[in-house]
Amino acid sequence: MAEYLASIFGTEKDKVNCSFYFKIGACRHGDRCSRLHNKPTFSQTIALLNIYRNPQNSAQSADGLHCAVSDVEMQEHYDQFFEEVFAEMEEKYGEVEEMNVCDNLGDHLVGNVYVKFRREEDAEKAVMDLNNRWFNAQAVHAELSPVTDFREACCRQYEMGECTRGGFCNFMHLKPISRELRRELYGRRRKRCLEGSRSMSPDVWRALGPCL
Ligand SMILES: [Zn+2]
Ligand SMILES: [Zn+2]
Repeated sequence: MAEYLASIFGTEKDKVNCSFYFKIGACRHGDRCSRLHNKPTFSQTIALLNIYRNPQNSAQSADGLHCAVSDVEMQEHYDQFFEEVFAEMEEKYGEVEEMNVCDNLGDHLVGNVYVKFRREEDAEKAVMDLNNRWFNAQAVHAELSPVTDFREACCRQYEMGECTRGGFCNFMHLKPISRELRRELYGRRRKRCLEGSRSMSPDVWRALGPCL
């Protein structure tokens, strides 16, 4: 029996534990979900909730028909955001294995950033510290996330460009960064010692403090 329960834990057959929270770290029912959301006490992954704002979702032109932000501008804005957050995580808390940003539109997933650290201690430290900070004039909400395997959390159809549920899909739609940035961030680790750290733009991250 125990073995059976272990084999269905967090799957659709599990009537006790929420499979969405288990796999994706977020569920559209939130605290009202009828199944359990088992918040991890240890994890390599943290979630920064609703922190990325896609300028294309808020910037409409005056006639309301055209998006005022071009795809190129949006990608530049996104790459810059990604690089800033990634660099801040590595400088302040420790080595990052991977970082992913949701392009979903549902309230529980919109703008979520998932940072998977190499060490659990770094993730723990990051959550404690980040909840006392502000990013782009909004309070940061960080928590440990149960997601460690992003392939399980991702929408396969989205990756093939075929998801018919669009932004309100309940699986992660991960927003890709440019190839150049990917090479820079993930290729950097081998030569990191030679380069030293880059400095951050000072006005984005803020400690909770007198500036309030
Ligand atoms: Zn749930
Ligand atoms: Zn999808």
